[in-house]
Amino acid sequence: MRIWTGTALTLALIVLGALLAGTLFSATVAAIALLAGLLGLVGYHAACLQRLANWSEGDDEQALPPVRGVWGPVFQRLARRARAADEERLRLADVLDRFRDASHAMPDGIIYLSERDTIEWLNQRAEEHFGLDHLHDVGVALAGLVRSPDLARHLETGESGEPLVIPSPRRPALKLQIELIPFGNGQKMLISRDISQLEKLETMRRDFIANVSHELRTPLTVVSGFVETVMDGLDDLEREDVRRFLQMALEQSTRMQRLIEDLLALSALETGAPAPTEERVDVHALVRKVAEEATLLSAGRHSVELDLDARDEGDLILGSEKELHSAFANLASNAVRYTPSGGRIRIVWKRSASGAEFAVEDNGIGIDPAHIGRLTERFFRVDRGRSRETGGTGLGLAIVKHIASRHQAVLSIESEPGRGSRFSIVFPGSRLRRSRTPPRS
Ligand code: ADP
Repeated sequence: MRIWTGTALTLALIVLGALLAGTLFSATVAAIALLAGLLGLVGYHAACLQRLANWSEGDDEQALPPVRGVWGPVFQRLARRARAADEERLRLADVLDRFRDASHAMPDGIIYLSERDTIEWLNQRAEEHFGLDHLHDVGVALAGLVRSPDLARHLETGESGEPLVIPSPRRPALKLQIELIPFGNGQKMLISRDISQLEKLETMRRDFIANVSHELRTPLTVVSGFVETVMDGLDDLEREDVRRFLQMALEQSTRMQRLIEDLLALSALETGAPAPTEERVDVHALVRKVAEEATLLSAGRHSVELDLDARDEGDLILGSEKELHSAFANLASNAVRYTPSGGRIRIVWKRSASGAEFAVEDNGIGIDPAHIGRLTERFFRVDRGRSRETGGTGLGLAIVKHIASRHQAVLSIESEPGRGSRFSIVFPGSRLRRSRTPPRS
């Protein structure tokens, strides 16, 4: 409407100007004035149209130049719309960038597949899982790139929601769970999840149950065997024999009890929060107590030595006294149990630059380096028979490792077969304090 009004006004002004020229000069001048005015008007419109054409052909960053006259408001409105469109485009690009970053950061692989099962987009994790490369593989059929008949079959029929488990074509040790989610117009989203760790945990859980059952079944069989024997021969057996059988049954039930206690201790440690920091454990007193217990257990078969520095008297560990006692005592009792008679055991507490360590050294049977990495696994024993004979449950070092990590400490093991072992728990400085009034020994 404003354009019509503006154009009518301009024409009126031109006509008026021509009339005025006619009145003042001559009809020829009036005609020239009218022509010049009309040409000027056409020129103005042509120039504005040319600017508009230039702008529409230019790059998106270029702003629409302002003009005067009837085209002014049109240019302004167009410029405003272009700015709004630019802002919206930037916002969408930002959303898209963030979506892409989030997809790349996802622990799962994602592949968008077209209705013909060609790759439309994939994240980095999917590239790793399937050995793909987005630079070359976008637009190519997935089944042709990943040589897995199971996957090809699943792509054909697998929209039922039932996930497929296949080894990663790139790293066969990796187990992938594949899920297909249909969307849009025949497109699919493929999600690949690394379930190797889950499978490992599941195997560990199964092994653990099998181990516990086995560990309990053996003594239980022995106990019921003895009880049966005693019952069958109640009238014929000598009193001394009955006593001997019952004694053996008692030993086996004590073993089961120890096993259950260790299992309960382990499960409490595994599920519990870090050890408390408000309990202040007097280290020298604890180490002396552990050495006394080891001496009692050894019953004179070994020399048990203490290596404490008098300057560290009053050292404190922030943690659980009960747990620390259990860990220290476990290491000391292992040294006694795996060191032949006449051997030497040294129990050490030593400050270091970054903290302090508790260590138990022995010159016992030692451990083959091949086994050292597995010693803290539940129920792992180098020599099952020897462990059993000495009352072992195979859980001691697993307990020690858990207790250490609950105190942010690290269990380290050095050993040489036939020469002996050194088990140490290294505590960080943050767990150590010094008592202001050191207790006198
Ligand atoms: P166990 O109850 O069998 O002693 P542990 O978890 O305490 O269970 O120890 C696991 C295994 O580590 C033992 O069976 C033994 O083979 C080995 N071991 C532990 N301590 C020592 C040591 N001081 N010397 C030699 N071998 C050891």
